[in-house]
Parts: sequence; structure tokens; C-alpha cells
Amino acid sequence: MIRLRNVSKYYYSKGIIASGISKVNLDLDVGEFVVITGESGSGKSTLLNVISGLDTYEEGEMYIEGHETSHYAASDFEAYRRKYISCIFQSFNLINSYTVYQNVALAMQIDGCEHSVIKSRVRELLGKVGLSEFENRKVSKLSGGQKQRVAIARALARDTKILVADEPTGNLDSESAEGIVELLTEIAADRLVVVVTHNFEQFKDRATRVIKMHDGKIVEDTYTGRHLHASAASSQEHAADDEPKRRHMSYAAQLGLGIRNTFNLPAKFLLLLLVFLFVTSSVSAQYVSVKKQRDTVSEQGTNFYFSNYDPKRIVIERSDHQPFTRADYEAIEKAPHVDKLVRNDMIYDSSVYFDSDDLPFNGYISDVKCMSRKPDLGRMPEADNEIVLEGADDGWMLGENPEAVIGKTYKMSTDGSSDAEYEVVVAGIIKDRDKSSEDSSDSEGFYATSGVGTAYLPDALISKIRTDMYAAAGTTTLVVDGNEEEVVPGEGGLVVNSNVPEGYILLPTSYDSMFDKGYAAGNLTKLSSKTLYYGESLELMIMGTYGEKTFTKKTGLKDLSEHNGEIYINETDFRRLYEKGSYQASVFVDDTRNINGMKDMLERGGFEVLVLRDHIYNFIDTALIDIIQLPMAVLVSIAVFFIAYFVIRLILKSRGVYFATVRMLGMDRPSVQRIMRIELMLESMIAYAVFLLFIYLSRIRVIHSDQLSDYIKYLSPRDYVILAGILLVMALLISGRFMRSIFKSSAMGAYREEA
Ligand code: ADP
Ligand code: MG
Repeated sequence: MIRLRNVSKYYYSKGIIASGISKVNLDLDVGEFVVITGESGSGKSTLLNVISGLDTYEEGEMYIEGHETSHYAASDFEAYRRKYISCIFQSFNLINSYTVYQNVALAMQIDGCEHSVIKSRVRELLGKVGLSEFENRKVSKLSGGQKQRVAIARALARDTKILVADEPTGNLDSESAEGIVELLTEIAADRLVVVVTHNFEQFKDRATRVIKMHDGKIVEDTYTGRHLHASAASSQEHAADDEPKRRHMSYAAQLGLGIRNTFNLPAKFLLLLLVFLFVTSSVSAQYVSVKKQRDTVSEQGTNFYFSNYDPKRIVIERSDHQPFTRADYEAIEKAPHVDKLVRNDMIYDSSVYFDSDDLPFNGYISDVKCMSRKPDLGRMPEADNEIVLEGADDGWMLGENPEAVIGKTYKMSTDGSSDAEYEVVVAGIIKDRDKSSEDSSDSEGFYATSGVGTAYLPDALISKIRTDMYAAAGTTTLVVDGNEEEVVPGEGGLVVNSNVPEGYILLPTSYDSMFDKGYAAGNLTKLSSKTLYYGESLELMIMGTYGEKTFTKKTGLKDLSEHNGEIYINETDFRRLYEKGSYQASVFVDDTRNINGMKDMLERGGFEVLVLRDHIYNFIDTALIDIIQLPMAVLVSIAVFFIAYFVIRLILKSRGVYFATVRMLGMDRPSVQRIMRIELMLESMIAYAVFLLFIYLSRIRVIHSDQLSDYIKYLSPRDYVILAGILLVMALLISGRFMRSIFKSSAMGAYREEA
């Protein structure tokens, strides 16, 4: 079966050439029980390794069933071993992190045996070597003798024609040694068994042939004349599969091993978990910081017409230029992705402030309906002059003592309705955690919205402010006897006076000279107001004019010098001119990604749409970030990959013995690679799941971390998928590289290197 002709093997190490065996001639056949003896260093192990294809030889020729092997590549020897050889190694070569059962079963799994076959055969073999009760014990917890027996059971599990054993009884007491010798004798009946031993005594009654070695050469080769009779049981056992069919290891078994290897070394599992977590969090941190920076910069622009240019804001008007109706509002509020609807948009762009030092508040006007939540202090507004303020609780917005502000009356002014003042009572306060004045100092010099509060006002108050704003923002003209002039609502201009009846107007005496008769009273005038949104005209009869003497009598006011040139009308007429509905509203989307969809929907719904985000003039171009920060982030991410790669290689280095062992058991490269891949991919996905868990915990506010909130804010579902993909690709790359380094040398070479 095996023939060696002048075979020599040399070892090269550190420039010195040592001879392992030289010019060995040997014929071995099935049914032989060959014992090789000789003093230490005589070449026994070398001979055995050459026979079993674990090591190559340099000279001569070895024939396997008549085939030359000198031209064999490593893969040919691997195939040869898979087909013919089972080994019992001097150093056991067991997998310490597996149980006894798993070690023995592994050899059969590699051969592609079925689960049920494996189960009964392994149990049977463990019974034979006397290890039944240690089936589920980890090999690392066994004594030397027990390990030896596991190694023997494993070798027997593979139904091969040749079994080689290097010092199989070296670690056993004489009684168990005898049992092993018995076992080997039994199986030698229909196989070739080659045993190396320095303890010839134990085998001398059983061997059919004794070979003695010295200095790398065979010096004695004698047949004992003994013959082995195949026992009934064992001959039956092998009759069916005289030429055993070697199948491939099943994918299920590979998956099982991959999963087992992931978890069976807790320290390795945790270390790898940490590395993958490090990769996940630092790569996403880089990504998020670029996205955040871009977002911040795009908010730090300005718009010359709107002072609140939140990127989520869309300004709308009705296409027919009529005021919004309740139905309009309700339809929009019901639409998907609408975060809030600000009904009085004009007001939203003007800010309010107060006359008091204890309330330094400054913020945009919004509607009570748009409040993000119930007030933290105080209550919801009930009366028409009650308001709620939302702002950072840092002393700058809500004053040193926000509680003292509740229930107090203030004079509120706005920057949109000239010098009008409104008496308001602060009913409630919302402390804004996310916005603080510190944020606004970040963007110093920019007109950013962060750091500015919001005042929630009831409808009646908003309507009042809007009236004043239309008056202040529009153009009001008065036509008297064909002369047109512009008048400005407010002190010194057009003023409401209750002494003037509806439909009348009271003018200064200077208007008298415009008329031929010398007095203006009784003539009609036209008073018009025009804003961006509407035009309105009233015909008013001049009720008379006032002079120095008649001023107080006609107006009820005191000092003319403070009211020079004022024109008086009735409040109802004033309202007719200026108290109009809202012609402009703002829709805020829940996410900037939905802006375009919302724009289309609103346009189809009959509105004119202005997406504010598209009309922001940036001081810093986002392209600048792409040039500076993006490459930095990419570099850092690459560095992270390399660090992770080297750390993972270090961690996996200890696994080299494992892979060398499974190769010696005959596992082929694709299977080894698949098991390795499964292990790393599973590990990376577990790390990813842990990462997601942290994000989830932060989302439900179990843990607090600014970094985690940034992840939540800036990572889109697509980003999560990409991140998982990056991890998987990384796991694949690393396992690929690792495989290449493992398969650089032969199984034995790899084992020698690692062990
Ligand atoms: P034995 O098993 O009979 O003790 P070996 O086959 O292990 O003998 O060794 C035979 C010879 O080859 C010895 O001289 C030994 O020094 C040498 N040798 C064995 N293994 C190596 C090795 N890995 N590197 C270098 N020399 C080796
Ligand atoms: Mg040896």
C-alpha cells in the first residue's frame, strides 16, 4: 500500500540543515501492526510524518497504492490525508475549548458524516476508550492520559485505511496503556497501523512487525510472525464500506462550528466584541460629525425677508391670494409629515420682548396650538391676554427666577408692529432643554435660530398684533379733494379716536385751505390700505378739522403739540382697513428629507409654496466641509480599520493552533474559510446589535449621552444598513487575509509555528 524508496527528509532551521531521515526504504500494507522504535532523535516522528503526508520529503519517492507522490502539492497531500490517514499525535493536537464529544465528533463532521451516525459512533468510541462519563467535559480540564484517549477515539472515528500514532501510550499508566494497545491491535486487523514508541515492551506481544531506527536510518526490520485475525465485529463493520466514500463537510456542520467558535472562548469573544464596537462607533461618529457640521453650517445662513429660516419651514399662500380658511388649516394639519402649522406666518418672523429687567426674554411668536408640550411651570393660557414662554433655563431668557415670572403682567412689544404695546400675563413656562444660550454663542456673528425662545400667544392677541403689523407694514394713502398723500398709522399719523363716529374722519386745520370754500368739513375722502396681500379702501366723510383751540374739545386729548398733524378715525374703520385674515402660513415638516414631497403636495392642493431652505444665503458653503472635513473623516475611518485589523489579527493569532488542527484532521480550505467567516460575521453583527441597543436605550432615555443623541438625530435607516454592510465587509476582508496567512505553510508547518 505504501512504498518508500530512498526517501530523505531534511530540516532547515536558522541556516542549519539537519537530517530527519535518510535513504529510507520501506513497504507497508493493510493488516500490519507496525511498531517503530529507536532512541530519541533517531527519526521516528519524521518518518511517521512523511508517511502520513503531514510533512514533505526532499529526496527519493513515496508511492501510495502505486502512485508517485514526489510531485504532490500541499493540496494533494491534504486530499491524501483526508482519504487514507488518521493520526494520533504525540502532543494530542486536541481542541482544548471543545468538549470530549465535540473533539471526536469534529473528525467525523469534517468527513461529512450525518449527525445521527456521528452521535452513535462517538458514544461507542468513547465507551471503548473509557471516557463515556467525560463526554461533556472540556478537554482543557482533562488529565494527560485522558487527553491521549480522546486523541485515540478521534483517530478511530475516522474510518481510514491507515492509522499512525506517535507515542500513543506515552502519557498513560501501564493498565490503560494495555487497553489502548488492545484497541489498536483490534483495528489493525483490516487496516495499516503504524505506531512509534520508545516503550517497545508494551507492544512486543501484539506487533506483526518491528522496525528499529538509528540516526535517520532503518537498522532493523523484523516480522514477528504473528498474524491478526479480523474479529467478526470489526470485519462486518468495514465490509460495507471497504472503499469509504468521503463526502464534504455539510454546511450545517460548518455553520454549527462557526457559531460554536464565536462563543466558546469568552475572553476572545469579548475582545472581538469590543473591537467591532469600537469600529462601529468611531466610523459612525465620523460620519455623524460631518453630517452635523453640514447641517449646522446650512442653518447658519441668512434670509433677508424671513428672520426664522428653519430648514424645515415652508411658507405658503393660497394661489387665489385670499386669506386662509379654517378648512385650509385643518386639511394641512392632517397631512402626513406635517410637524406643525403656523397659521399666522407673518407674526412668526417678528420677535417679542418685554419692558422688564426680570424677563430678558426674546423670541419668536407662535400659536398656543403649536406648543410642544404642557408648560413645565404654571398652566395653559385661559384669558385672551395670557401667554406661555419657551426658552433656555439659563438665566438669560426666563430671568434668574422663572417661577417669579408666572402670573405677572408685562408690557410686550414686537419688532413688527412698530411701537404698539400689549399687556400680557405670563401663564406658563416651558424650559427648553435642547436650546441654551451657549448654542447661540457657537454661532456668534450669525443670524441663527438657536438660542432664541418662542412666545405662545392666544388667537385674539395674535389677531391684534397682526392688525397692527398690517398697518405698520402696508402703505396707507389718503385722497382729499384729488390730492393723494401717504399717512402712517400710529402716533403722529393715523390714530384711532372714539370721538370720531364710524364713517367719518377728523383732520388737522391745514386741510381747510385745500377747499375753495375755506373749510373741509362735509367733503368725502378716500382712505386706502395696501399690503403685500390685500388692498382695502374706505370712503370717509370729513367731520371737521381741529385747530389749537378746538383740539381738546374735538378729540378728548390734551396737548396738541404732542399730536401735531394726526388724523383721527373710528376704531371700526381702522379695523376694516387692517384687521384681515392670515394670508401667509408656514408648514414645518418633520424631517428635511420630506420637504420636496411636501412641496409637491401643497402645490397640488392649491397653494403657492416657498421652501425657505432654498433661499438661504450661506456664509460658509457646505462644499467647504466636503473639502476639509470629509477627507479627514475618511482618513480617520481608514486608520480605525487598520487598528481594528491588527488587533483582530492579534486576537486571532491564538486561533492558529485551532485551524492547524482542523486542517490536520482533513478540513479543506473552503470549509476553514467559511467557518472563520461565520465566526467574524456573527461577532460583528453581535457588536452591531449591541450598538443598536445603546442607541435604543438612549432613545427611550434610559441612558443619556450627547454622542448617542447625535447618532439618533443624524443616522437615517439607510445609514444603518450601510454601517452593517461596512462591518460585514470588514469581517470578510479580515477573515480572507487571515486565511491567506494560515494557508501559507503546510498543516504541520502551521502547527509547529503556532504551537
Ligand atoms: P524522534 O521522533 O525519533 O525523536 P525526530 O524525527 O523528532 O526523532 O527527529 C529526527 C531528527 O530530526 C533529529 O535529529 C531532530 O533534531 C531533527 N528534527 C526533528 N524535527 C525538527 C525540526 N522541526 N527542525 C529541525 N530539526 C528537527
Ligand atoms: Mg518523536
